[in-house]
Amino acid sequence: MAFSDQDRDRVRDATNIVELVGAVTTVKKSGRSYTAICPFHQEKTPSMSLDAARGLYHCFGCGVGGDVFSFVQETQGLTFPEALEFLAQKAGITLEEDPAAGRRKGERRRLVEAVRLATEVYQRRLKKAPEAGHARAYLRSRGYDSDVVDRFKIGYALGTGDDLVRELRAGGILDRTMVDAGLARRGQGGRLYDYFRDRVLFPISDVSGEIPSGSVDGHSATTGPST
Ligand code: ZN
Repeated sequence: MAFSDQDRDRVRDATNIVELVGAVTTVKKSGRSYTAICPFHQEKTPSMSLDAARGLYHCFGCGVGGDVFSFVQETQGLTFPEALEFLAQKAGITLEEDPAAGRRKGERRRLVEAVRLATEVYQRRLKKAPEAGHARAYLRSRGYDSDVVDRFKIGYALGTGDDLVRELRAGGILDRTMVDAGLARRGQGGRLYDYFRDRVLFPISDVSGEIPSGSVDGHSATTGPST
């Protein structure tokens, strides 16, 4: 999750550094200032000073310092987003995901979906299309049986201009997404054409099994991979 700066500031304002530090170590009040036994190094007399107004801490013994978030991160071994969520929950604040970060995630989801659909279309073409006969013969000649073709999601792009574009549109994929995913390109006049034509395609999955955009590797069905 990515959060907005406003949410971060709200949580910071709602968090009392004196209480936060006081929950894990001894805090002493002298006049209007607070000092604490530093939890980051061994000591008997407090050398960590707390700035209650600004929500900061600084240790004159070992030099550590920071704000409410870094204190939670350091003492509980959390990442920044985890510390933010922890303090937000304590303060009763509901965090909202940063819309810009949410949009970026949505874009990635659309790209992954476009490539996934394209991979299916290419696989179908390789298995069924009469025009893919030479591609099937080529794969057989390389020792790729149907098990291997299925396992590696190997496919074939037809030589005609916009076979994939039409299939993806029917699947609800936007033109812009096809271009961004590297699956189509604009010709003169703005018409969309398939990026891969008459190609045997070997998709590359990432560790989650998703096929990231730009990672469909095309090989000519007649000359094959250069390796
Ligand atoms: Zn210290």
